[in-house]
Amino acid sequence: MAGAPSDFHSSTAAVQATNDDAAASKLSCVSKGYMKDEYVHLFVRRPVRRSPIINRGYYARWAALHKLLVQFLKPEGHKDDSGCVKKQILSLGAGFDTIYFQLMDEGIAPHLYVELDFKEVTSKKAALIEHCSQLREKVGLEASISRERGEVISDHYKLLPVDLRDISKLDAIISLAKLDPSLPTFIIAECVLIYLDPDSTKAIVGWASKTFPTAVFFLYEQIHPNDAFGEQMIRNLESRGCPLLGIYATPTLRDKENLFLEQGWQD
Ligand code: SAH
Repeated sequence: MAGAPSDFHSSTAAVQATNDDAAASKLSCVSKGYMKDEYVHLFVRRPVRRSPIINRGYYARWAALHKLLVQFLKPEGHKDDSGCVKKQILSLGAGFDTIYFQLMDEGIAPHLYVELDFKEVTSKKAALIEHCSQLREKVGLEASISRERGEVISDHYKLLPVDLRDISKLDAIISLAKLDPSLPTFIIAECVLIYLDPDSTKAIVGWASKTFPTAVFFLYEQIHPNDAFGEQMIRNLESRGCPLLGIYATPTLRDKENLFLEQGWQD
């Protein structure tokens, strides 16, 4: 790990706060008309106006993920007895992401959508889902919601707490969520793994390849720590107590590809 800031440790609270930032930035984008999201405002206490370059960045982030999700969810393959195409999505470090609700509105939500995050975050999300009828009806009125446990469990949507670095717990979470490893699975890690130490990231990427033989892994996160933009970005995040612990182990796109290939992904 050449040049890594070895004495930096991420503060859990600071890493969780990046989620509030992401939601506020997405709302800024929505209010400027870059994209539609009827739900993100429910997750933002203090709306902010971001600069055009930030709005464009978030739009690119949202559009890339949305486009790939639509491709993945196109109705082909694996039909069950009722003729339904069964697919599932697993979002690692989902934060206050609202894509599940958007996919419901678009009528293309998968058979099962599972979101994982730290309990502090899932508890807040569970409380919001419980109190906002717009959200609650989308997860299903049969949903069991517990703010204390940080859980939402319904037939087609699950929100569960876990520390992703605790690899030994991930298998149990998968069975609790009723994810079926034999189904086509789209795994999302949007600005999450970069905050973890490189060994944890490797373990998660390897675990995912072993667990889900037919899967897509969508990774969206920071690269290029050594150009002018990267240096400033790193300083900003370090000063907020959430350094990008993973960025020196995989500083380029090629390094990220190699990480996946070394951990059992084919392409
Ligand atoms: N993916 C969402 C949120 C990104 S913010 C989006 O793009 O909008 C990063 C999220 O990762 C936070 O919600 C944080 O709590 C979560 N996270 C970071 N490290 C984690 C860990 N070790 N276990 C579980 N969640 C983690």
